[in-house]
Amino acid sequence: MRLPLIHRRTVLAAAGIGVALPLLASCGADPAEAKTFPKGKTEAQWRKVLTKDQFYVLREEGTERAFTSPLDKEKRKGTFVCAGCANPVYASAHKYDSGTGWPSFWQPIDKGAVGTSTDYKIGYARTEVHCADCGGHLGHIFADGPKPTGKRHCINGIAMKFIPA
Ligand SMILES: [Zn+2]
Repeated sequence: MRLPLIHRRTVLAAAGIGVALPLLASCGADPAEAKTFPKGKTEAQWRKVLTKDQFYVLREEGTERAFTSPLDKEKRKGTFVCAGCANPVYASAHKYDSGTGWPSFWQPIDKGAVGTSTDYKIGYARTEVHCADCGGHLGHIFADGPKPTGKRHCINGIAMKFIPA
């Protein structure tokens, strides 16, 4: 019986192609989505633990309306943690009032707390910033911040929770 063997080989080859295609397709996806994060969850799992607005910002890279987050005016000493996974992402020591209506920081709490990617959502390149642990979108980084870094981390308040010191 030779035919079944040949048939089997053909099927395996076809299966190999089938596996390769989704991998190629994923290369074009947002790096923040394609990467695996230590505290990553499926979309269904995120929908269960996040509010609708949190899901829109953290998982769909949405932006909250300016001046809507109470964290914009938060001036107490403390730590801002990711609303998705509680990873500390920003500290009150690096917060300043940029006047934009979004909580603004000139640097993250430490170098490993956040990751960045490039997004072209509004037609030009912007630096997207997300939680390094769960991949949740936090906001964007602009080059018009204060000293010493000159960076403005423009962060959605809804993507964070504040823990007073
Ligand atoms: Zn997170």
